[in-house]
Amino acid sequence: MYDTIIIGAGFAGAVLAERLATQKNQRVLVIDKRQHIGGNCFDCFDEHGVLIHQYGPHLFHTDNKSVFDYLSQFTEWRPYQHEVLAFIDGQKVPVPFNLNSLHSLLPKSLADSLELKLIERFGYGVKVPILELRTIDDKELKFLADFIYEKIFVNYTAKQWGKKPEDISAEVTGRVPVHISRDNRYFQDKYQAIPAHGYTKIFQNMLDQPNISLLLNTDFKDVFKVDLESGKMQFMNSEFTGQLIFTGLIDELLEHRFGELPYRSLAFKFENLPTEQFQEKTTINYPNDYDFTRITEFKHISQQTISGTTIVKEFPQNFERDNPDKNIPYYPIFTDENKQKLDRYLSFAEQFDNITLVGRLAENRYYDMDDIVARALQVFADEF
Ligand code: FAD
Ligand code: UDP
Repeated sequence: MYDTIIIGAGFAGAVLAERLATQKNQRVLVIDKRQHIGGNCFDCFDEHGVLIHQYGPHLFHTDNKSVFDYLSQFTEWRPYQHEVLAFIDGQKVPVPFNLNSLHSLLPKSLADSLELKLIERFGYGVKVPILELRTIDDKELKFLADFIYEKIFVNYTAKQWGKKPEDISAEVTGRVPVHISRDNRYFQDKYQAIPAHGYTKIFQNMLDQPNISLLLNTDFKDVFKVDLESGKMQFMNSEFTGQLIFTGLIDELLEHRFGELPYRSLAFKFENLPTEQFQEKTTINYPNDYDFTRITEFKHISQQTISGTTIVKEFPQNFERDNPDKNIPYYPIFTDENKQKLDRYLSFAEQFDNITLVGRLAENRYYDMDDIVARALQVFADEF
């Protein structure tokens, strides 16, 4: 029998499996309904030999040295600094919107004066979330804030979330703040790198332990039961008295007793093109044009020198539990109303000492890869 059963082979599940197996000598079973490990960070070679990210572009960045050191046990890295352009009014300008974007889009005298005002008001190098910039009482800066809001945020956010920026948590648009700087990078973190052999290899190295068993292609509901009255658990029809670590949808585990939590899904359209390079940067955002939000070209990430190139377009869509084309919950939707529902789920789950919830879906948090690795390491330190 297993000491711990983990649902989900993404970073939340893989880190905890690795820690429990190697540091506590536990026998661990990891179950995932997909046919592969890695969760949404899974990458693989497409039929043309390009290393693609199956569930959308993943760029590792962190300021957390312990996370970087932990992951470095399982991979070598290639330095990589992510840059994104947005297609605005027929031009491609840096995003997050910065002083270079300002000068590309506005006439010189106006841009010069706005630059000075921004630096005087906030300081050079400072990042200001767009919703905060819009509350400013200065007429010229308010013009700029509205300009950025209209050109960069409002239509992209409508596509991505089906909502206005002010109708979702400020944390969401706050991820891409206006940057009063000439630094064109998407992230400023100290550690930014691509795993030298891809993300999936990290997961293989983490999970390839004698104490870890994998059960893929298996929805947990088919093999695992939790009695939500008594907290008793069953695995394959036998009582399971160990710990459950759950990284899937919290509302699914708790049988939707407080109603469904809403998620946003995406359709990824991959195309292989007979050209060396399709676009000048890894990712180009299209806030105002087309139905997709962004195009990513993978060879910029993989640095492969093979002929042809593969790109992916991201089309946001509603999550539909029973529609196989729309049933991947890529993003929890962060609104006040959903937060209240989530809190009911989280407090209900607290009564079960034998269940640990961790992960982007289980906790309904906008965790990046480094956040979830840090969180899983913290859970391991605190609870095991
Ligand atoms: P997941 O990776 O989602 O793993 C959860 C696992 O649980 C999945 O494998 C799933 O199949 C399994 N599961 C769910 N339900 C069941 C069930 N019923 N039965 C069995 N198994 C089940 N982070 C970055 O740091 N940089 C980026 O550039 C970046 N880009 C992203 C782009 C996109 C489009 C998305 C959606 C996310 C991105 N992220 C990025 C975030 C990153 O994907 C997450 O931080 C990470 O995947 C979270 O790990 P997790 O283990 O919590 O969840
Ligand atoms: N966003 C936007 N325009 C952009 C880039 C981002 O409006 O050009 C907003 C949008 O609401 C998006 C959020 O900022 O969902 C966070 O962007 P990020 O690139 O972090 O999203 P992710 O990579 O997680 O999908």
